[in-house]
Amino acid sequence: MFDNELKVDFPPDTLLHMLRDGIDMEDMKDLIITHTHSDHLYPDDLVARLPGYAQAKDHTIHVYGNDAAIRIIHDTLVLNGGDHGKFELHRVRPFERTELRTAVVTALPASHNPMETCCVYYIEKNGKTVFYGHDSGRFPEETWRWLEGKPVDLAILECTMGNIPYDVGHMNVEAVLDAQKRMAETGMLRAGAKIAVTHFRIMRICFMRI
Ligand SMILES: [Zn+2]
Ligand SMILES: [Zn+2]
Repeated sequence: MFDNELKVDFPPDTLLHMLRDGIDMEDMKDLIITHTHSDHLYPDDLVARLPGYAQAKDHTIHVYGNDAAIRIIHDTLVLNGGDHGKFELHRVRPFERTELRTAVVTALPASHNPMETCCVYYIEKNGKTVFYGHDSGRFPEETWRWLEGKPVDLAILECTMGNIPYDVGHMNVEAVLDAQKRMAETGMLRAGAKIAVTHFRIMRICFMRI
């Protein structure tokens, strides 16, 4: 969640995040979705904003995602009586720069699920830029070509495979280090830029530490 108004992905853990971190999801204005895997999109909990469920404000949350994500959210809302003006859905296409109310975002292709145009996002907000890079796998060359030279204050990468020597569809440690190197070599990292690595396979990481 960025500035309590822009959220990336809507997993089933969202309720936990609300309770644990004291976040009021009703402050959310824009929601961007990377892809439809259930750890990134759980549309049934969006239904809680519809009449007859939880208390919700009247404002419209604008949701952005690829065609697969938008279709699933649309169908879920229709099954539950329609969006009632609580959501407005927007399909994004790779390399298109989209102006949201809270930021400017550009979706870029990932190398993740070949059945879907999974996206990572370059987010420009209040003079800062964030690269939200998961689930990504090793970035396709077309994504690198777009990214190279673009300034980044924070890059969020995935390291799902940990130290497993496998990087198809997800990154491992080696792929993360390669991405860090290429970002540095191509001048993407602004002074003080940070790279956060997340989305680990927890059981494997626990095993590595023993
Ligand atoms: Zn995924
Ligand atoms: Zn994932």
